[in-house]
Amino acid sequence: MRDTAPIYLDNHATTRPDPRVVAAMLPYLEESYGNAASRHHAFGWDAERAVDRARRTLASALGAAPNEIVFTSGTTESVNLALQGAARARRPRGRHLVTTAIEHPAVLETLEALTNEGFELEVVGVDGAGRVDPAEFAAALREDTTLASVMFANNEVGAIQPIAKIGAACRARGVWLHVDAAQALGRLPIDLAELPVELLSASAHKMHGPKGAGLLFCRSRAPHVTLEPVFFGGGHERGLRPGTLDVPAIVGFATALEIALADREGEQARIAALRDRLESLLLDSVSGARRNGPDRDRLAANLNLSIPGVAIEAVLAELEGLAVSSGSACASASQRPSHVLAAMGLSPALARASLRFGLSRFTTLREVDAAAEQVAAAVAAVRSRSPRTAGGNPKNSASID
Ligand SMILES: *Cc1c(COP(=O)(O)O)cnc(C)c1O
Repeated sequence: MRDTAPIYLDNHATTRPDPRVVAAMLPYLEESYGNAASRHHAFGWDAERAVDRARRTLASALGAAPNEIVFTSGTTESVNLALQGAARARRPRGRHLVTTAIEHPAVLETLEALTNEGFELEVVGVDGAGRVDPAEFAAALREDTTLASVMFANNEVGAIQPIAKIGAACRARGVWLHVDAAQALGRLPIDLAELPVELLSASAHKMHGPKGAGLLFCRSRAPHVTLEPVFFGGGHERGLRPGTLDVPAIVGFATALEIALADREGEQARIAALRDRLESLLLDSVSGARRNGPDRDRLAANLNLSIPGVAIEAVLAELEGLAVSSGSACASASQRPSHVLAAMGLSPALARASLRFGLSRFTTLREVDAAAEQVAAAVAAVRSRSPRTAGGNPKNSASID
């Protein structure tokens, strides 16, 4: 039985809605519940005004025009619309698609599904820290490449990718670049007026907004991006995403981004300091632990450790009051080691022995200290039960997996 409040350090999976976001949403759940597409009464006009305001807020925060923002239910939906829509729209031009080995399953599985329609997929690898080399990426682009997809920041090891360089290489060859910005929005500067990116996807719930709201940026000028629709049923969102808009979630999305950007640098610096403290506490107290991911150019909130010589499921079972994940939330349902850590060259044993911590606006110093203590105690308990790994010497236990 635990006697303290649970600690949430799984903020790559989702985040706690900011109370100010919830407050902004409530009127649209309780009173202004109209359909934003209803043209003949005040309920509809109220809802439409709220959506317009949110669209302008999000667009201007991103350096985009309001008509370049398509509201969706989240990154997965945006990715599907962007990649299926763009690949099919450009089919007469070519069938070669390029991505990286560390993308989220939303991207990898969508692109793999497109190979069933005759598209050819090329997957570029990463270095040991999870970074894409822009020159290597550029070398994968061919005459018949029409579309590329690269994530802004990785959701397992936090690696921030050189999107400006990759985008410039794509532009030079007339390739449209889609960016999965689920982990980047609100945390990293994103200026689509400058960044050579044609399509960009993000979710509200990764940045203290509500679940159920996402956006797809779809560039309308230089170059003009057209997508073949994936969904049918009405004229909403320029025909790209028919269906009644989730007005409260859209309002919450814009509020969440305004809050995140109001003090982005200050907040990220505070989170990075807490993360660095967690990292050094754990590396000091858990023998054999090693960090996965880059030193620099890493998300402030991210810490990914491999703890060799313990069954990580047993460690997680000890951590009753601490919400963390092994690998990514999406991969941890399956027992397969993370494809991201595998692409970085980790052995299956090390990849399976990984713990992912994600901090947030709401993480406190006390929580960080308590989390480090709990993890160290859990690893010690598991190791003491397992004679093969007693003492925690990873050299003696490298065969464990
Ligand atoms: C969470 C996440 C997604 C999926 O987002 P949903 O909101 O669940 O659709 C895609 N890519 C990355 C990098 C993510 O972190």
